[in-house]
Amino acid sequence: RCEIPLASLSGASKRYGGTLALEEVDLELRAGQVLALLGTNGAGKTTAVSLLLGLLEPDAGQARLCGRSPRDLAARQGVGVMLQSGALAPTLAVSEHLDLVRSYYPDPLHVSECVAIAGLDGLLARRYGTLSGGQQRRVQFALAICGRPRVLFLDEPTTGLDIEARQGLWRGLRALVAGGTSVLLTTHYLEEAEALADRVVVLAGGRVVAEGSLDAVRARVDQRRIRCVTA
Ligand code: ATP
Repeated sequence: RCEIPLASLSGASKRYGGTLALEEVDLELRAGQVLALLGTNGAGKTTAVSLLLGLLEPDAGQARLCGRSPRDLAARQGVGVMLQSGALAPTLAVSEHLDLVRSYYPDPLHVSECVAIAGLDGLLARRYGTLSGGQQRRVQFALAICGRPRVLFLDEPTTGLDIEARQGLWRGLRALVAGGTSVLLTTHYLEEAEALADRVVVLAGGRVVAEGSLDAVRARVDQRRIRCVTA
């Protein structure tokens, strides 16, 4: 069993050449919670997720997944991931993608559950490459959740979705959270954090500028700054 926190950064810094993408960032995802990482373009959200997943190593500080190094395979069990660059095979049908990824898991969601949660009605027979950007994001979401993840990482899951599709994904996500999944998501949208998150970390220029409940964050950060992370 995984100990609390499920995922954490402590004093984590990451540099790409001359760019300091993250500077001494602390954050924690606790069991049963939805944590939103809010920030504008270039704030460091994807870098933070990449450290938590072990896709990148911090230059300083530490990343932990279930109390272990994120590069440890045991830490990755029960983790679902939807990255920003979620390109899939363009000629495979949606149903083929689902069958393939579901086959990796011992007790995957039924296809009909994936369709319902991710809003894929009528899309199963379509080749991935023929779908709109928003439909492709929904397929990526379905693949991220089909293994019944205990911890789910979503990097800007609703960027490019219209408001109806966005709200549909929020509904699906709430159902998962009610079932016990913990979620760390990145977003540009304050309304997305409002709709989903128990706790919020606001990143700006690679630093944490506010952290806590949405109300606490609102109270601490001046309105101008909050507005700048609202779509
Ligand atoms: P967005 O909302 O646009 O996805 P983000 O908050 O996810 O942004 P990151 O992608 O983490 O931000 O980028 C943080 C900073 O690091 C930015 O200044 C970005 O230009 C820079 N950066 C990210 N990846 C690289 C890379 N591979 N090489 C060089 N610089 C990078």
